[in-house]
Amino acid sequence: MSKKVLYEGKAKIMYEMENPDELLVYYKDDATAGNGAKKGTIVDKGVMNNKITAFFFDLLKKNGIDHHCISMPSDREMIVKKLEIIPLEVVVRNIAAGSLAERLGLEEGTKMAIPIVELYYKSDELGDPMINHYHVKAMAMATDEEIREIERQALKVNEIMMAHLKTKKITLVDFKLEFGRDKNGTIILADEISPDNCRFWDSDTNEKLDKDRFRRDLGNVEDAYKEILRRLTGEER
Ligand code: ADP
Ligand code: UDP
Repeated sequence: MSKKVLYEGKAKIMYEMENPDELLVYYKDDATAGNGAKKGTIVDKGVMNNKITAFFFDLLKKNGIDHHCISMPSDREMIVKKLEIIPLEVVVRNIAAGSLAERLGLEEGTKMAIPIVELYYKSDELGDPMINHYHVKAMAMATDEEIREIERQALKVNEIMMAHLKTKKITLVDFKLEFGRDKNGTIILADEISPDNCRFWDSDTNEKLDKDRFRRDLGNVEDAYKEILRRLTGEER
């Protein structure tokens, strides 16, 4: 039986399921950067990101944060609750890097006094512009209450992940989350949590263990993803 593609994105393919409330997510090895300007392949990225995402979702669930994952039928696939995605990239930052370092003229690695939450409008055509609460409400993307809930969950995710990663000698620099609404209108964490959308630095050396190795042509890209999977789960691949 051939599965119907609902949407093919840059990193994943979303297939429809018999149950209209579910989707099958297929994690690809394709890698892009600069909003698709740079393209490549990271060998076994799909498998590693699926496993790393499943690990973090499990950790979050144990600590009171619900998520869309239902099960993992294979190394590259996840069955998830189909959500109405809110078109926001919710970025949390503990340390200045990437676009924040550039925008505010901060040296990469500067520790922020408090975690920063930023909202970006998820639009490939517009290059994901940064927006604030006013834009979110003016464009009817989410209500005040939903924005508060999204930011509460994002900051809680940050605390939970940071604490765990510290025990694995990994510094959580920043990351991006997506949220959606289920049939009851409940806000639920969606998408993925992997080296594709987090910055992970080795706590001793500050070596980058994430997609910046691909974005910035630093080499050893696969090894960085493998290292994150190994430190989190003990698995080599
Ligand atoms: P992009 O769209 O940025 O290229 P991906 O290749 O990762 O990204 O595609 C995954 C798509 O699926 C994203 O648009 C994401 O918002 C969406 N998505 C993630 N989780 C769910 C979900 N539970 N229900 C519906 N859509 C989802
Ligand atoms: N990020 C993401 N998708 C995007 C943009 C950013 O997952 O489209 C993540 C990125 O991996 C990093 C964080 O969000 O962990 C902050 O990224 P930044 O704004 O610094 O983006 P850059 O300009 O470096 O891509």
